[in-house]
Amino acid sequence: MESCDTNTLAYNSSSSLPVTPQVVLSPCAACKILRRRCAEKCVLAPYFPPTEPAKFIIAHRVFGASNIIKFLQELQESERADAVSSMVYEASARIRDPIYGCAGTICHLQNQVNELEAQLAKAQAEIVNMQVQQTNLMSLICTEAAQSPQELSPQQSVDNFSEDNTMLLWEPLWA
Ligand SMILES: [Zn+2]
Repeated sequence: MESCDTNTLAYNSSSSLPVTPQVVLSPCAACKILRRRCAEKCVLAPYFPPTEPAKFIIAHRVFGASNIIKFLQELQESERADAVSSMVYEASARIRDPIYGCAGTICHLQNQVNELEAQLAKAQAEIVNMQVQQTNLMSLICTEAAQSPQELSPQQSVDNFSEDNTMLLWEPLWA
């Protein structure tokens, strides 16, 4: 008959609340580790299922069970899952790096951002430099072309034609 009650509870919750709570297995990981009875309205049970005991062990080691309970009670139910995730993340960072914890990760990422920004600025400066070189090269090519022998310049040929050959063309007509 217990499974029937659980189903009814889950059905009612899904129709009245946007977030359907997981079917809570008893005792939760927290209560099992704390060796206490997991009450029906255990605040830790939805976030520390017995299938994932490591989550509670890590958070408990850094924050302590009473602080975790206090933090969760101060939050809305919709905020608690994220709070547990961040507490577990922060606690594992603290265990991994006892000196800097999460701040060590932030500092490491900040250094990466700074290095990448410096690389980006360098690459952008190289692009500007190459664009200037290209412009200089193009103007050099144009100058060279303008100073090359006359037969290579179409404008010069036209000028020669109009100035020197006009008489030769017209003369036979008047002869
Ligand atoms: Zn519990």
